[in-house]
Order: sequence, then structure tokens, then C-alpha cells
Amino acid sequence: MSTLARAPTGTLYVVATPIGNLDDMVPRAIQTLQTVAVIAAEDTRHSARLLAHFDIKTPAIAYHDHSDEHRTEQLIARLLAGEDVALISDAGTPLVSDPGYRLVRSARQQGIRVVPIPGACAMIAALSAAGLASDRFAFEGFLPAKQVARTHQLESVAGDARTLIFYEAPHRILETLQDMESVFGAEREVVVARELTKTFETIKGGSLAEMVAWVAADSNQQRGEIVLLVQGAPKQENADLSPEQIRVMKVLLEDLPVKQAAAIGAKITGLKKNFLYDWALKQE
Ligand code: SAM
Repeated sequence: MSTLARAPTGTLYVVATPIGNLDDMVPRAIQTLQTVAVIAAEDTRHSARLLAHFDIKTPAIAYHDHSDEHRTEQLIARLLAGEDVALISDAGTPLVSDPGYRLVRSARQQGIRVVPIPGACAMIAALSAAGLASDRFAFEGFLPAKQVARTHQLESVAGDARTLIFYEAPHRILETLQDMESVFGAEREVVVARELTKTFETIKGGSLAEMVAWVAADSNQQRGEIVLLVQGAPKQENADLSPEQIRVMKVLLEDLPVKQAAAIGAKITGLKKNFLYDWALKQE
């Protein structure tokens, strides 16, 4: 055996934790957290309850992608020295709208073994129960908080045929649904999945118009943790515009924003406004 052989590095375990119901903690997650040298947690105070509940005495240190580059280096150094490290976030699967990307990327670049311990994830739990097409879907994470940026982001996915999945804060749920209604149209189906795995779990679907009215009328629906799932853009019959219709739309789009061009184009061509809107977005 060569005397230059490198000592084995440790393993970085990426461990999912429950999104509300502690019974969703998988046995392999408990075992891993009990046996690693250190737990890198998004918020050590938040995770203390979970760790105490499962009698996990492993020391935890705070890890956040952006707050502390030095922390990433420290953890990588420990892994390279042969220690095993577990990464957890406050809830669910790390890296899914949660910290961990920088650590995982850096570990893999250094040839460190990265092992996922799968478990709860709010968007997958929501998708599994929403009854929307699940063969193709796009996870959009959190939308921007400001309305102009949010509308812009929604417009960029309005023509996407895949089911769209968003995370949203409860105090923005109503305005986000309203923006979705104006961008996707009142008829598009949406499912609101709230407080999954918890006492007040609610999963309700309907048209955007119906769901805006429902959430507006019941302030309880504006509380807790929420996943929004939106049906993909409907497939258009007559997906091809005639050469004359294309000419009209191109002229309008030269001087007008997409929404206005679609509205005027609909009056000129007799085609549906939403269809022209989606068509115009695909041309960009
Ligand atoms: N990493 C987590 C995961 O795997 O789902 C997501 C973390 S992200 C910071 C938190 C967001 O996830 C919440 O604002 C909410 O949109 C969604 N979420 C988390 N737990 C949820 C639950 N029990 N029910 C519904 N949505 C939830």
C-alpha cells in the first residue's frame, strides 16, 4: 500500500426533517443525526426541539449559505479530516428553498461523498395530494415580494404547460392569488395546500376566481404555511396563427406590452386574449 494514500474523507449527509408532524421523521434520519460528528443546522435553536425529541445529543452548529463563507470552509475541513457531517434545515428537505447549496456543491467539488437521507418536502407532499398533472411540473420557489416583480415572474411562466408549484408566505397569499388571476386568467385551476401534516391541514382547489373569493372571505386561509399549485397552460387547438394573424401581432408587439397587444390582437383577430398572450410570450 502506498504511504501517500489519502485518508478517507467523511461523508456529508443531507437529512430531511418533518414539515410539521414529528412522526414523519424517518428512522435513518434519526440514526444518522445520532452518529455523525456534527450537525450543521439552519437555526440551532429551532432544531434543538427536534433533536431533543429524538434524543439526539450530537453537537449542532449554525450553517447558512450566505451569512458565513468561513463556516462552509470549516465544515469542508472537518469532512476532509474524516468527520461525518449532517446538514439539516428548519423543516423539510435542505436546499429546497433552504440553505445548503454552497456546502453540497463545495463538498462534491472536493470529492467528498454526499448522501441524501430523503423525507418530507412540502412541495412534493402538496403535489402528491393536489390532483393536478404530476408527470411534468416546475418548482418556482418563492415569488418576489414586490408586485411588479411578482407579476413579471408570473408572466414568464404563463405559457408553461407544466404544473407550477410555488411557496408563499401567508400574509401575501391573497395578493399573489389575485395577481395569478390577472396573469393566468380567472379559469385556471389552482390548489392551495396549507399546513400540511399539521392539525389544520387544508387542501382545496378550484378556479383562480373561486379561490381568490374563498381566501378573501376566510382569514384563516391567510395563516400558516402554504404551497400553491397551478395547473399548466392549456394546450391550444389551432396552435398556429395564420400569416396575417402573425403579422398583426408582430406589429402590435413592436409598440405595446404583451398584455395590451394580446387584448387588441384578440379584438382584431377574434382569437382568445389568453391564447394570444401565451403565443406572444413564446415569441420572446
Ligand atoms: N425545505 C422545505 C421543504 O422541503 O419543503 C421548504 C422550506 S421554505 C423556507 C418554507 C416554505 O415551505 C413555507 O413558507 C411554505 O411555503 C412551505 N411549507 C413548509 N412546510 C409546509 C407545510 N407544512 N404546509 C405547507 N407548506 C409548507
